[in-house]
Amino acid sequence: LASEFEIIRRYFDRPARSALLGVGDDAALLVPAVGMELVATTDLLSEGIHFRSGADPRKLGHKALAVNLSDIAAMGATPRWALLAIALPAADERWIAQFAEGMFALAARHDTELVGGDTTRGPASGPITICMTVLGEVPAGLALLRGGARPGDDIWVSGELGGAALALARPGIAAAAMRLDEPEPRVALGERLRGLASAAIDVSDGFAQDLGHILERSGVGALVHYDRLPRFPIDDPELERRCVLSGGDDYELLFTASQGARGEIEALPAEIGLALARVGSIQPGDPKVVVLDAQGRPIRVAPGFDHFAP
Ligand code: ADP
Ligand code: MG
Repeated sequence: LASEFEIIRRYFDRPARSALLGVGDDAALLVPAVGMELVATTDLLSEGIHFRSGADPRKLGHKALAVNLSDIAAMGATPRWALLAIALPAADERWIAQFAEGMFALAARHDTELVGGDTTRGPASGPITICMTVLGEVPAGLALLRGGARPGDDIWVSGELGGAALALARPGIAAAAMRLDEPEPRVALGERLRGLASAAIDVSDGFAQDLGHILERSGVGALVHYDRLPRFPIDDPELERRCVLSGGDDYELLFTASQGARGEIEALPAEIGLALARVGSIQPGDPKVVVLDAQGRPIRVAPGFDHFAP
């Protein structure tokens, strides 16, 4: 059986590239580029809460990193470095090897370096717990915040909404399962939105709820046209509304931008290979999301995801 240190050496210790010092010492040494601000984010995935027991470790490795890269993208930042803290009930080397493979495959695509972490035993038959931290960079003053939306701004969404929630509601649909298990962080889009978007967030807890976070921070309201929302194909209209408006885990970018930026934003899909839809507008007034159907009638929106919802 492998020791803690053998596991780290075999599966997590890769030669440092841009880090001054990566895995192997007491801590990593990192040098941010001149003129850049450091962006830091962390996300914890707990077995039984964020993923089911027996989930494919390769996909988990992907997702643990992807959800963090998505937060980096939503800030308009470029990911640089990652740290991984993981607690396992046992040193299952096959599981660890596959987890590392999934994580490093995505890391390589985004030029993100694993520079440290912690590997510990958790309680026997207790949950696998994965806590990933990603550090990124953004030119000083250009980070995309939640608080910059202004009345009159357009509201935009990337990709498609609802697929991940559909996978939970109806297991067995391969394309939906992909959206849930292997989300694609919209890093290139986030970088291109610097100086273009007025506010941004990634859709992790449901479109309406996440838009609500922008509204609260910005002190504005929003009007959204349901039929303009990019939707994962779902044959049951009731289920579709729930998945599209309130389903979590899509990891698309939801952003606002002035009407003057329309031309530039409309040119982005061809450049980055990702669809963008203009779905509504920011309104003066209370931080409320109003969603209208094709006939202009308001749609009742189910609450989004909340770990501590009563
Ligand atoms: P310490 O006891 O000082 O916390 P560790 O023995 O836990 O040091 O870790 C040794 C080195 O291995 C450190 O550089 C640490 O960042 C790195 N490390 C440990 N676990 C992981 C992991 N899962 N992924 C990446 N690096 C790791
Ligand atoms: Mg340690």
